Amino acid sequence: MFVCQPSAYGFGRASYGLNLGCNYDCEHCYLGLKRFEGLDWPERERLLHILRDANVLWLQLTGGEPTIDRLFPEVYELAWDLGTLITVSSNGSHPHNPRILETLTGERSVTA
Ligand code: SF4
Repeated sequence: MFVCQPSAYGFGRASYGLNLGCNYDCEHCYLGLKRFEGLDWPERERLLHILRDANVLWLQLTGGEPTIDRLFPEVYELAWDLGTLITVSSNGSHPHNPRILETLTGERSVTA
């Protein structure tokens, strides 16, 4: 069983916008320019460890559309392995993608 220690920082929740890109173009969108960019893997790995060390228990993964981010599966899986409870704020356009499905269900045997 994974038990978090009380946080010296006083944080329990965090929100991480993986990048600001999106595959939709809703009129009401707050993003303006939808830039498909994000941190490289070493920086993301460092960020997730910092959040873990700050005892963030609830992590929202958002964007833009997080599931089209090139490193979404890696981010999700590391956050999971670090004991984080994850919420994915998505437009729901990619659950059919086998890699996304694998990631969200933990079913690594699902194939394309
Ligand atoms: S799905 Fe969300 S992030 Fe994407 S364009 Fe629409 S409002 Fe913006």
